[in-house]
Amino acid sequence: SKRVAVLTSGGDAPGMNACIRAIVIACQKSGYEPIGYLHGYNGLLNQEFVSLSLDSTHNLIQQGGTILHSARCKEFTEEAGVKKAAANLVEAGIDALLVIGGDGSFKGATYLSDYFHGQIIGIPGTIDNDIAGTDATIGYYTAIDTAMSSIDKVRDTADAFERIFLVEVMGRHAGFLALNAALSSAADYVILPEHFESTDAELKNIITQIHAQRRLKGSVSFIVVVAENVWPKGLPALTEALNEAGITDVRPLTLGHVQRGGAPVSSDRLLATTLGEFAVSLVGTSSNNVMVGEVNSHPVTVPLDKTSDSKPLNSAQVALMKTIMNERYDC
Ligand code: ATP
Repeated sequence: SKRVAVLTSGGDAPGMNACIRAIVIACQKSGYEPIGYLHGYNGLLNQEFVSLSLDSTHNLIQQGGTILHSARCKEFTEEAGVKKAAANLVEAGIDALLVIGGDGSFKGATYLSDYFHGQIIGIPGTIDNDIAGTDATIGYYTAIDTAMSSIDKVRDTADAFERIFLVEVMGRHAGFLALNAALSSAADYVILPEHFESTDAELKNIITQIHAQRRLKGSVSFIVVVAENVWPKGLPALTEALNEAGITDVRPLTLGHVQRGGAPVSSDRLLATTLGEFAVSLVGTSSNNVMVGEVNSHPVTVPLDKTSDSKPLNSAQVALMKTIMNERYDC
């Protein structure tokens, strides 16, 4: 019988628990023994693990967060740390390690493969969707929904006071979440890392749009979705720049960590379940140092070191948003 270990690492994402559940169930079916390492890579260094039984999967699919806890781990980025982790995995008799996390976690897994000669399989879990080789990552769909419903609420209060709101959404250095949140909440403008030219150019366009809308519709609300890490010095600087251009009544709002929480939506549960089961099906095969993903509804494997390649936004969505942002109300 094989011992299959799983851990969750990096930013937590809704659906990680659904994936753990699928892994435990698939292991039971194959006669494997599922082990859960706690606190991301810290668990490997401290030999901190628990045995996962079918009991632990009860009511798990709908829970946000991760029952294995997640963490960052500096020691793991150094050779001594990775060597220790590999030795601990051997000591615990682990045949395969499944890592649910983002691209940083996959870099760590690749580093570990230099010293650990069992199987390593990555499963994409991050709200940012910034992982190449899979159409979506576990947690991404729920985060879009959370951002969308938050922006819907912002719209109510923005409308009441005819205010301008700047809403910052997460995404690290990718605009997937910002673009999809903006489109689904009918935001008026979005600032994306992939299409950011300069503060001057964006500012000019935002101001033009606000004036154009107000000429046509009167004093209306206007919502700008801003991807994190794009605007130099963040929302306070953008607010000030608009104020200086004579546009007052601007309210900045950072959605923050609410976007990482909550019960996973069905798409994330389904993706997590498919990928968890698929990862276990690869145990004992020659697939090694790969990530499992889904492309056009089919499960795929991708070499772990290709998962940090750049991943483009959906071009049709970008074109649609550009049309919305450049609408002329004064013709
Ligand atoms: P998210 O993008 O959702 O936050 P992530 O997996 O990219 O998820 P990181 O904090 O970048 O999150 O990485 C998680 C952990 O992976 C780090 O704390 C570290 O232990 C390990 N790690 C990251 N980069 C490397 C690297 N280059 N070499 C070895 N280990 C790494």
